[in-house]
Amino acid sequence: MTTAAVVGSGPNGLAAAIRLAQEGLDVTVLECAERPGGGTHTSELTLPGLLHDDCAAIHPTGVASPFLNSLGLDRFGLRWLWPDLDLAHPLDDGRAGVLSRDMTRTAATLGRDADAWRRVFAPLADRFDKIGEDVFRPVLHLPRHPLAFARFGMGVLPPATWAAHRWRDEPAHALFLGVAAHAFGRLDTPLSGSVGMMLAAAGHAVGWPVAEGGTYAITTAMIRLLESLGGAVRTGVRVTALRELPELLGSEPDVVLLDTAPQAAARIAGDRLPPRVRRALTRYRHGPAVHKVDYAIDGDVPWTNEDCRRAGTLHLGGGAREIAATEAATARGTMTDRPFVLVGQQYLADPSRSANGANPLYAYAHIPHGHTGDVTEAVTAQIERFAPGFRHRILAVHARTAPQLAAYNPNFVGGDIAGGSNHARQLVFRPRAATDPYSLGAPGIYLCSASTPPGAGVHGMCGVRAAESALAHLNSAARTSTPARA
Ligand SMILES: Cc1cc2nc3c(=O)[nH]c(=O)nc-3n(C[C@H](O)[C@H](O)[C@H](O)COP(=O)(O)OP(=O)(O)OC[C@H]3O[C@@H](n4cnc5c(N)ncnc54)[C@H](O)[C@@H]3O)c2cc1C
Repeated sequence: MTTAAVVGSGPNGLAAAIRLAQEGLDVTVLECAERPGGGTHTSELTLPGLLHDDCAAIHPTGVASPFLNSLGLDRFGLRWLWPDLDLAHPLDDGRAGVLSRDMTRTAATLGRDADAWRRVFAPLADRFDKIGEDVFRPVLHLPRHPLAFARFGMGVLPPATWAAHRWRDEPAHALFLGVAAHAFGRLDTPLSGSVGMMLAAAGHAVGWPVAEGGTYAITTAMIRLLESLGGAVRTGVRVTALRELPELLGSEPDVVLLDTAPQAAARIAGDRLPPRVRRALTRYRHGPAVHKVDYAIDGDVPWTNEDCRRAGTLHLGGGAREIAATEAATARGTMTDRPFVLVGQQYLADPSRSANGANPLYAYAHIPHGHTGDVTEAVTAQIERFAPGFRHRILAVHARTAPQLAAYNPNFVGGDIAGGSNHARQLVFRPRAATDPYSLGAPGIYLCSASTPPGAGVHGMCGVRAAESALAHLNSAARTSTPARA
């Protein structure tokens, strides 16, 4: 039987393992943490009974993922839940731009920009299933749906700050730049609007849902499916070199997929990789970090704007000009007093996460790569800015600095949660310039983490594409009868 080892059990490692097991391979996933799942854990971080998402929380890319959708994970307990409003972006004057699956509810918050917003996003939302098939691939590929993809492509080439000039008033302007800030980088460079265009279109097409019971439900469902296909996950096993695998697995695997950061992949595979590939992986650039804060709060957040009280996600960064300046400073390595903050109110869609009148509130700030300070107070102040009185509702706080996040999961290098910088070159060539970005240039060894296309998010598409590359290699090796061993 053909055997595969997957190092790392994040959503991409598990997706790779499932895809290989679907083709009849004997797959073992090796995970260094005591719990599988990488960036998908859910824990009682503050008070007993309150369920907090340690990392990923909001799942537009999960609910849109062609692979996750193909798996029927509802049979294994996964259920998506949607808040009344998907996203709200409050401003200092009390207004807020809103993103909703219902375009008319978005339009109602955007005043004289309503029609312009609709003209940009309605066609993308209508064709999102087709666009999705292309955006979940490497940027450079032969499009499956050239017309739909071309329309999307026209919108993503210019910098986010230029694209935002389509709108005349602050609610639309700030709403778009806040979504674009998910790219973690400067918003005035080419392609910097691409993540924003995709996530805003996804918001209208499929929404920004949460997983019932917490993000970990995605991992539980994937592992149950993997096990039903004969695969296995072993935790508490840190792989430091490929030569350890025969002893760990009982024999040398035919293929190895690394759900790791590129630098770690270079260390693990060592001189099995061509020197040019090792060099490229070692030079791979990481982006800004996050500082994560989880609160237990008494009741709800007293947002000034009513729509914010019904939104699953909030972007706190003020107007468009402020967001662009903050993100540029963060990318330069400067910590600002008012960082861009994302807040998650998952409990609104999923009350099972709350207990005894207390609710779990999720937040993180964008901070410079490797920043060592504790910026919890700046996060609390940003929430207080748009919800005066918030401080008095706090019952307990749990925070993770960038170094603590990196220690928690080695893939979050320097606190970077996006698997690497999203500057234009690395958006196109991720992790290196190659026709097959998943192959590490040596037979049977692949990178399958969020540092490969299509990048960060709990969608599993990096893992699936890497697995397909591995399967293609195994098939061609079988045809030519050359050994395929890793
Ligand atoms: C605070 C935060 C908020 C986020 N919010 C969202 C969100 O709302 N929505 C969203 O879609 N995404 C979000 N993300 C990003 C998302 O979590 C990641 O993009 C996703 O988890 C990447 O999956 P992965 O499989 O590539 O890597 P990971 O999930 O990081 O998994 C990699 C796994 O490999 C293991 N590993 C690494 N090296 C080794 C080794 N040598 N030996 C054995 N095991 C190893 C690690 O322990 C880890 O379990 C967030 C992340 C963070 C941290």
